Amino acid sequence: MRVGVAREIKNHEYRVGLTPASVRELVAQGHELLVEQSAGLGIGAADADYQAAGARIVSTAAELFATADMIVKVKEPQPAECAMLRPGQILFTYLHLAPDPEQAKALLASGAICVAYETVTAADGSLPLLAPMSEVAGRMSVQAGAHCLEKAQGGRGVLLPGVPGVLPGKVVILGGGVVGSNAALVAAGMGADVTVVDRSPAVLKRVAAQFGTAVKTLHSTREALEAAVCAADLVIGAVLVPGAAAPRLISRELLSRMQPGSVIVDVAIDQGGCCETSHATTHAEPTYVVNDVVHYCVANMPGAVARTSTYALNAATLPFAIALAGKGWKQALKDDIHLRHGLNVCEGKLTCKEVADALVLPY
Ligand code: NAD
Repeated sequence: MRVGVAREIKNHEYRVGLTPASVRELVAQGHELLVEQSAGLGIGAADADYQAAGARIVSTAAELFATADMIVKVKEPQPAECAMLRPGQILFTYLHLAPDPEQAKALLASGAICVAYETVTAADGSLPLLAPMSEVAGRMSVQAGAHCLEKAQGGRGVLLPGVPGVLPGKVVILGGGVVGSNAALVAAGMGADVTVVDRSPAVLKRVAAQFGTAVKTLHSTREALEAAVCAADLVIGAVLVPGAAAPRLISRELLSRMQPGSVIVDVAIDQGGCCETSHATTHAEPTYVVNDVVHYCVANMPGAVARTSTYALNAATLPFAIALAGKGWKQALKDDIHLRHGLNVCEGKLTCKEVADALVLPY
């Protein structure tokens, strides 16, 4: 199959669909790889690196989209890219169609076969192509929060690990899922005083089994949560109710009782955030202050560490890309129900019930 890697054109997107190492794997399996010029620059991969891996560099997106049987990307196609998709062509990327009727219409009109990373499933019900970005955001949240705690950033001037003779900072993580447990890993590794709050006893048991006594666990009642948040130096919002807006766990009133200079890193901001005063920010201006509490609410945290994020994403997507390229989409989806769950749009029809329900379109 002819596999094409497009250069991302969404504002401030530096990731790329396939790394040179992934390209080499696909080339080794007999596929022809086309990479759009400069596609890997954001992760430090030059065109020459892709050529060394066996790819041919094409100079324009138009040429890539006209030639490739499958396009591999990271972000949802922008209108100009949707217009270049062809009937029968495979698109493998994040789509996030539910809140995006315009993109859905364009993909339906294209006649392409669109497989979305975010709805591919695993046997345990998890979302394996979403998880790598949660791992990145979880680990990064502590790094971002530690920086925000510095005085110059409006923080209360606390060094999370403490020093000999001075207690470490208190980190409270709301939600012990993928983001939360990765945040706990980094915070505990730094030597902070870490508490994970979750409403699920099973999640709390898993966190306790993973970290032993290095991380405290707390069942999420209103009282427990309020006491933990008010005592915290750094609160990390990592809750998720699948398919719903993030639960608002920190009201404006609770915020007013937090310590001046404390920090909230609301990772759940892409689902609306778990704090009443959260609103989405960008890497260019990541923070703002309400009631003396520093808010960091960047909606695409992994974009800042494009290199790590791309390699993490590729480790998860490559086996599926290999299956699609090797078997063709019909056989690959027939053989793997989890990859089938990724199919959102197929030859002019919506094929993902959740997306169809959200868009109020026929399924
Ligand atoms: P997850 O499903 O693995 O974990 C969510 C956890 O929240 C679960 O353990 C659940 O029990 C817990 N929870 C739900 N409601 C709760 C409540 N009321 N009180 C306490 N705990 C509660 O999800 P995840 O992959 O860790 O993602 C968390 C959030 O981070 C999501 O909104 C996700 O979209 C977001 N995210 C944001 C970025 C970013 O760049 N900002 C990047 C990746 C993920």
